[in-house]
Amino acid sequence: SLKNSATFKQYQLQAQQLLQRGLDQHIKLAVTGLSRSGKTAFITALVHHLTEQATKQNLPFFSVIQSERLIAAKTVPQSELDITTFPYRDGINSLKQGLWPSSTERINTLRIAIKYRPASGLRAQISETQTLLIDLIDYPGEWLMDLPMLELNFASWSWQQLELLNQSPRLQHAEAFLNHIAAIDWQGPVDEQQLTELATEYQGLLRKFKDELKLSVLQPGRMLMPGDLAGAPILAFFPLPEVTQAEEGSMYHHVKTRYQAYVKEVVQGFYQQHFSQFDRQIVLVDLLDALAQGHDVFNEQTQAINQLIRHFSYGKSNFIKRLFQPKIDKLLFAATKSDHLSAHHHKDLTLLLDSIISTAKNDLIFDGVKIDTMAMSSVSATTPVMVEQKGEKLSCIRGKEIASNQLMTYLPAQPPMRPLTVQEWPQHGFQFPAFYPDVGSNNGIRHIRLDHVMEFLLGDKLK
Ligand code: GDP
Repeated sequence: SLKNSATFKQYQLQAQQLLQRGLDQHIKLAVTGLSRSGKTAFITALVHHLTEQATKQNLPFFSVIQSERLIAAKTVPQSELDITTFPYRDGINSLKQGLWPSSTERINTLRIAIKYRPASGLRAQISETQTLLIDLIDYPGEWLMDLPMLELNFASWSWQQLELLNQSPRLQHAEAFLNHIAAIDWQGPVDEQQLTELATEYQGLLRKFKDELKLSVLQPGRMLMPGDLAGAPILAFFPLPEVTQAEEGSMYHHVKTRYQAYVKEVVQGFYQQHFSQFDRQIVLVDLLDALAQGHDVFNEQTQAINQLIRHFSYGKSNFIKRLFQPKIDKLLFAATKSDHLSAHHHKDLTLLLDSIISTAKNDLIFDGVKIDTMAMSSVSATTPVMVEQKGEKLSCIRGKEIASNQLMTYLPAQPPMRPLTVQEWPQHGFQFPAFYPDVGSNNGIRHIRLDHVMEFLLGDKLK
């Protein structure tokens, strides 16, 4: 009987281990945003605060820490071997030296394990501790700009793009390209060299639209962030005026075939391999930079964000449903870099973001996706200071400005609470100077509302 009871204990232990394994959780948290929106800074800060600065004082709104149930969080080896590892060490080292990490330009991943004490319920009864595995996946928001291509054939896509190219502000820059494509016999035999040159010219145009004109509705998105596909023929296509009778072997047919391959392999491939696996998503938006660029750029960004939201609105866009069964149940839109504002204007920034996405947001709520908007800062580069001027107290910010390389104090602009019309736009526009990250005296990296972000995205998984 002694033997029996030992066996029984062993069974009990095994059963418990199995149960525990079943309860251990795993989520894929995707991070996206257009380039320079702050993805690299965000992931670096998130990992840093979870693994190195997880104190009540630092993360008061993150409930697992608030209720003292966090045991430890650390980075662990990822399971997906074909995706680059997010360079966390490089990022945190840069920040600690007072420099911004260099941005990543492709899909990256990093796995964190959070060991915690469950609060109550089945988890708490079965085991003292649980582990939540989080796969962070960082991918360029530019890639999401290609979604509409899934529904368009080459002729309709071309038609839309050529419409855009023929309008201001694109037209001034696109004229040479439009003349070049007009001068070619697209029914003639394939000339690879010519196609490569034109593709390079079109890519150059997209780059210019992005870097100089700060436009964001740009297709194909991979041309801007090619990642592993740099130089691959599948990216070497561009819009063309329709040729109805294009035979196989003709220039037109060749470009059309590349378009079709791109849509199928690259766009659809991204949805099937990656997007369909995401459980939660945060979308970072740099509204302040868009405001600083002026009315047209701001409008274009609004358009881009709304196009991006369509990815999460499955109820309406059933062509996503046709591809896969979406899993995302929580979606957070975060206006980043709020440390450029004084604290009492953070609310305005949230309202502005809210009003930009309001229509789309209602559809999402209808689809059962929990959605929220926040103004936050992954890494505060400024400190708030009160300045007295002519008897008036002004809330200013102070930091080491990048342009002058000096400590400067500014009275930040107040962002509008909703998108402004051209007439309402302030004459001198908006300005938000850039600062170096501030690591403080004891290498403490400060954030604004990163704990609220953690609570929304992870809190319920750590109960
Ligand atoms: P990514 O291209 O989306 O990965 O963007 P990054 O994370 O590289 O951020 C681009 C730039 O935005 C950085 O180099 C910083 O200058 C700035 N930035 C990002 N996050 C913050 C922040 O929280 N506060 C401030 N002040 N600037 C930020």
